[in-house]
Amino acid sequence: MASYPEANSEYRLRLYLAITLTVFSLAHPSQAGITSHFDAEHQTWAYSNGLIEARFELNPAGLFRFVGLRTRAGAEWRSAFPGNSSPICFRLGGKDRWDESRTFRLVSHGLRRPGADSARLSIVLDDLRRTGQVTLEFDLYEGHPVLRYGVRYRNLTESPTYVTRAAPVSWELSDGGERYRAMRVEQWMPVEDPADFDAIVTTLAEDATPVSVDTGAHGRYCTWLALADRQSRGLAWGWEFDGRATVTAAQNAEWARLSLQSHIPDLFHQVAPNAEFQVPRAFVAAFQGDWDAAAHATQRFVERALAKPAPPARNGKAFPYAAWDSWAYGQDIDEAKLRRNAEAAARMGIELFIVDLGWARMLGDWREDPKKFPSGLRALSDYVHGLGMQFGVHFAFGEAMAEAPVFQSPSHQDWTSSVNYGYYGARSLCLAHDPVRRWIVEQAVRIIDEYNVDWILQDGENMVRECRKDTHTHHPGDSNYAGAVDGLGWILREIQSRRPHVAWENCENGGNLMTFQMVQNYVTSIVNDASGARDARKATSGATFPFPARYADRYMPEDRMIPYVTRSYLFGGPWIFMNQLTQFSREDFEFASAEVARFKDIRGLVTAGKILHLTEPAAAGRTDAIAAWDSATETGVAVVTRDNTPHGDTFWLRIPEADAERSYRIRFAEAPGTFTYGGQQLRTQGVPVKLPGEWYSEVVYIDGIK
Ligand SMILES: [Zn+2]
Repeated sequence: MASYPEANSEYRLRLYLAITLTVFSLAHPSQAGITSHFDAEHQTWAYSNGLIEARFELNPAGLFRFVGLRTRAGAEWRSAFPGNSSPICFRLGGKDRWDESRTFRLVSHGLRRPGADSARLSIVLDDLRRTGQVTLEFDLYEGHPVLRYGVRYRNLTESPTYVTRAAPVSWELSDGGERYRAMRVEQWMPVEDPADFDAIVTTLAEDATPVSVDTGAHGRYCTWLALADRQSRGLAWGWEFDGRATVTAAQNAEWARLSLQSHIPDLFHQVAPNAEFQVPRAFVAAFQGDWDAAAHATQRFVERALAKPAPPARNGKAFPYAAWDSWAYGQDIDEAKLRRNAEAAARMGIELFIVDLGWARMLGDWREDPKKFPSGLRALSDYVHGLGMQFGVHFAFGEAMAEAPVFQSPSHQDWTSSVNYGYYGARSLCLAHDPVRRWIVEQAVRIIDEYNVDWILQDGENMVRECRKDTHTHHPGDSNYAGAVDGLGWILREIQSRRPHVAWENCENGGNLMTFQMVQNYVTSIVNDASGARDARKATSGATFPFPARYADRYMPEDRMIPYVTRSYLFGGPWIFMNQLTQFSREDFEFASAEVARFKDIRGLVTAGKILHLTEPAAAGRTDAIAAWDSATETGVAVVTRDNTPHGDTFWLRIPEADAERSYRIRFAEAPGTFTYGGQQLRTQGVPVKLPGEWYSEVVYIDGIK
């Protein structure tokens, strides 16, 4: 208990309670709070917030193992066989396994309360030979049926050790005689076999054939995997790692076993004597219901526990912002053009003005191009601020042209990663190499200060690089973990701690790096670059299973301001215009301005509500609909879009969350009139939404009547 002095008395009280209360009940969650009951005789922990209870034990043989997980809704997951499931799962060197088969002794444990509604249970174990120490951390938040966990290893020997395997997800569950479906969601990969936020549901084979998700930078999938049984009881796992990781789910029905396993490739991480290694953290969310329920449980937790807080509302500007980005001009930008667009943007109601790629002298020379900006970029920033907007710049900090001054110093020649990713002809820097990351931090801080930057659009090609160099400060076999944690992660943490007021947008490869580490560093992420209206809807639909809606921002390259176009970008995080605003007709300008006002009107509901995926995602020949629903206020908003769909003048909008006992007032962006419908009709038959023609989109506002 030495590490948690304040928790001592509370802990003793809880210990006393645990001994006196032999039966633990989840029957009264509102009164339960977060409790950790330790049975000293059997060395078992029952850790609960009333919605989810996790049980672990350190058995008489010294094996630390997962016992069971159960929810208030009555679902229960148990270890497949006693002793074969442990959150501890890593390896040192070739075969020194630290897992369910290793023996430990208990050093200390305790419950700490970082906030009024959250707790962290820490359990510290030494292996019996005292070569290393393992610290397990389990986090619970009141009102969330989610267990977050992490495992840390400390090297207690006199010489360095090397972590060669680490599994953030490692669960061996009994399959309960059930069958399971798995959902995974792609990120964006514009390659030969493209990935574009398809949400893929697969029934798990019973013969242990795994469903596999390959995630992280340059991976195919988001770091999320949800499983549901035939009774719609489910668990969703998320892992907090930007590097490559593979997670598999497999059922072996013959052995009644459901296995979740994971693997981090290219891991060879040195741990100096008395230093620590953190296995990437992960969480498991319990849900009951459809995939929207899985998404909602995940997203609420992400917003509560993980996500970078959204920028605070200032002068009527609330997040997510209506934004403008200069990519309408490609790199052909200059201060005169940008000033004219800034004036138009401000009149249109835009709140954030972003200067995309092309402002600097070259990639890697992060000073403004004096030919494009004779008055300096700061003058433009001041002008933009004077118009009441925030100022953002593109920054691809991991890229530098061969001619960039940074390479002129002979000792910097070796700063590149051994694999080059060729972002706009640049050389890729190795972010895990210590002098590189320090140089990047200095550049970032200078850019932020000199140009008075509020927002960084951070771009780059594969931000977790492969690098086999033995001349760098990372181990040549460790570039995946080192690149993610000591490279990208360290750089962002360092810059953000020095300049905390700046908000960051993730744009790796235009929609890659969709991870639960990313949400901790960025306030939003692009989903599928400027792929057009239909794809923007498709990506938003897919991304809003694992991620809160604010992590689906959309670049709008179309110049035709019609409802089909603007509504395709209306729903999600920041809406980013990528148009030459000075070329807009007066009519287009006025329509766009009204749509910006509409976006501001619904953004609070969209980002706080439960996302309802009411149809399959957008596709040619289809009508698609997505909604956000706030059950506290009984209000909702839906965007219904008819693509090049020959039939379908009427779409029946059903809201399964509506209260059958209530009435709702319904109005539309296009169709006139206000209508009252009973909740029962809204839930079952639905309400008619008129879509008179192809390439059409309607917004539906739903307000519960008190
Ligand atoms: Zn390197």
